[in-house]
Amino acid sequence: MKFKHFFWDFDGTLFDTYGRIARAAQKSLRDHGVDVTMEELMPAVKVSIPHAWKTFAPQFERKELSSTYHQYAEEEGYDTMQPYPGAIRMLEAVVENGGCNYLYTLRGKSALEALDYYGLKGLFRDCVTSLDGFPGKPAPDALNHLVEKFSLDTKECIMMGDRDIDLNAGFNAGMSAALFDPEGWYTDFPIDRRYNTFFDMTADLVWEKCEKNLQVRDLFDMQERLQKQFESKWGGITPKRGREQTLWMVGEIGEVIDIIKKNSAEKIMTRPELKRLLAEELADVSMYLYDVLLCYGITPEEFAEVYLEKHLHNMGRDYHREHVEKYGK
Ligand SMILES: [Mg+2]
Repeated sequence: MKFKHFFWDFDGTLFDTYGRIARAAQKSLRDHGVDVTMEELMPAVKVSIPHAWKTFAPQFERKELSSTYHQYAEEEGYDTMQPYPGAIRMLEAVVENGGCNYLYTLRGKSALEALDYYGLKGLFRDCVTSLDGFPGKPAPDALNHLVEKFSLDTKECIMMGDRDIDLNAGFNAGMSAALFDPEGWYTDFPIDRRYNTFFDMTADLVWEKCEKNLQVRDLFDMQERLQKQFESKWGGITPKRGREQTLWMVGEIGEVIDIIKKNSAEKIMTRPELKRLLAEELADVSMYLYDVLLCYGITPEEFAEVYLEKHLHNMGRDYHREHVEKYGK
């Protein structure tokens, strides 16, 4: 793991909340006779809510706009406050590998309630919210407080955020920082560590030198991303391409057969480079397998469910009896 202590921003980083934030802001502005589209609003709310008020309704009191905003935000409920895909996985991976997560958000108690709602509190060593009264980001005070409280080495610390103020808070506290920017809001921000997905983030920051521990969902994700990257060349993932990908998979099985045909089991087991080559060819088979699943719209959940069902069924089978019943011997 590249870092041991991960400090997480909440909105737009761990939780996908900017849709609801912009929607509540839009309703609040509409109540004051100001009509703004979501597309116009989003860049402004990404800076801050007060900035949105200043941009679109400077004639109104901030307090007035904010109080109706908070009402609308509360009405949204948890359906529109969900962790980003892979966020929980990343938090778990940090803990599994001996690291710690800390929450540092400008949001109030609703952030803690959301962690509770999704059963994530146990994954955090400590949480700092607006209720703690520290100066806002990019001031480093809240991070300094956590560093001091747990006697941390800032070289092992990284601030994870979706806005410049998050990253600058990290830098101001002498830490590293990483940008999560799935929609490309901060392409100009000078930072080496930038991620569009939690998968990339986990692979780079946690798995680098740790057990890879890939899950079924990861294998789906990787193929989906590969297919997306070469969509214009390969034609994307469609049911029509299912047949083609199945044939390529069989082609890869041929390469596995070639290795097994030309080398004894003993040779494969005693020559690491040969074993590695076999693993590579089997990985190719598996990649096409996930392509086929994607082509026919079979989800990771559906695949995991039938896989487990079949496994449990197989574990309970009496193969000998079935064979006797079928073939009489
Ligand atoms: Mg944020």
